Amino acid sequence: MLIQKFGGTSVGSAQRIKDLVKLVVSPTQKIVVLSAMSGTTNALVEINNALYSKKTSHANELISNLKNNYLKVIAELYSKPESLAKATNLITNHFEYIKNFTMDMFTANEEKAILAQGELLSTAMFHYYLEEIGIDSVLLPALNFMRIDANDEPDMNYIETNLKLELAKFSKTILFITQGYICRNSFGEIDNLKRGGSDYTASIIGAAIRSEEVQIWTDIDGMHNNDPRIVNKTHPIKELSFDEAAELAYFGAKILHPTCILPAQKRNIPVRLKNTMEPEAEGTLIANLITKEGIKAVAAKDDIIAINIKSDRMLLAHGFLRAVFEIFERFKTPIDMITTSEVAVSLTIDKNLHLDEILKELKEIAVVEVEKDQTIICIVGQLPKGKPGYGFKILEALKDIPLRMVSYGGSANNISVLVSSAHKKDALMALNKGIFNY
Ligand code: ADP
Ligand code: ASP
Ligand code: MG
Repeated sequence: MLIQKFGGTSVGSAQRIKDLVKLVVSPTQKIVVLSAMSGTTNALVEINNALYSKKTSHANELISNLKNNYLKVIAELYSKPESLAKATNLITNHFEYIKNFTMDMFTANEEKAILAQGELLSTAMFHYYLEEIGIDSVLLPALNFMRIDANDEPDMNYIETNLKLELAKFSKTILFITQGYICRNSFGEIDNLKRGGSDYTASIIGAAIRSEEVQIWTDIDGMHNNDPRIVNKTHPIKELSFDEAAELAYFGAKILHPTCILPAQKRNIPVRLKNTMEPEAEGTLIANLITKEGIKAVAAKDDIIAINIKSDRMLLAHGFLRAVFEIFERFKTPIDMITTSEVAVSLTIDKNLHLDEILKELKEIAVVEVEKDQTIICIVGQLPKGKPGYGFKILEALKDIPLRMVSYGGSANNISVLVSSAHKKDALMALNKGIFNY
């Protein structure tokens, strides 16, 4: 069974929703995963912020603005009065639900429930549209099968069992539609897979049912060699290995959710990136491939915090590094980059949730300095360790950029440097020129 995920822009207007039909209708079974219409999740975040700070009238205004946008979309989407009435009812119900929270208690649970409304709306609207034009489909509620565990990891056994149960109810159905991004947590409450999480949903579903392929349809013709929002000239990459794509996604290539490659990679399911606006374009195939040697792409991950930890004894003295790493582990804070010298270790984290507690404990064993607003620039490809040239080429391209850390040799797919975020744009442009000759 094929999985096709369509992102926010691909369902971003009545016309876009209509245009999806030709991409999803086929004689073979598939599950279509939809994001919220573009702008919706941001608007819901804004509504949450207003509710959290008890700005009720502002929250009401934001809610009615968003509702009006939806009313306009459905007026354009449906031509039959029955469909329009059904969709009006849908929108009224969902926005009444959101409005209830203006009078209620507001905690993290309510926040997540509000964020889930975007995907619930887009999937129901598409399902009604297919119904209007006479195409059978079944709406699978993601909240019935998608679940994360206490560590926020997908609970694959639960997902596999429950998704199969849902699918088994409709053995003759060819087209299933479900919500990306939303899930339940280990307490059974509504939760989500973090921003951009619909890609992750698609890959998790693909892994759960051992799909032949997961397709991520978006607004660009595949993974490009550099961030097209920042540099002028970029090109799409035809093929990436799972490891290369995972590094690019984790280190900031926004086209993919940071961890969405892993479930597909674990079960060796190819992931294809395609452009909804240009379906004939080749896109990018991500699979268990041996790709050509060389640098393929660069990506940048912002909001990085660098922590320098200087020991008053030899760094490699027995037990020091273990003591340092245990502190990060206790606060469930992953470390991205690390470099060491004889007496000091520099490392980076991207979660500042427990920064104060981490620093307090580190200061008990070392002298600690913190630098915020850092960016990791990650250079990805097949870069055999010890082969001359790659390190030089990268550092030469970056010769005018102040580098805070350099990480080389950890993986044969990635060389990373840390720069102050103020230098990110210059660094990406310099790499585009020095490596890709733009
Ligand atoms: P969707 O809403 O479909 O999930 P996203 O906005 O999450 O789409 O991802 C697509 C966007 O990712 C593109 O429009 C592009 O601006 C951005 N992007 C950033 N880095 C890259 C890259 N290396 N290759 C392709 N797109 C990228
Ligand atoms: N709607 C969610 C977001 O905007 C999930 C997604 O688009 O993938 O983050
Ligand atoms: Mg996305």
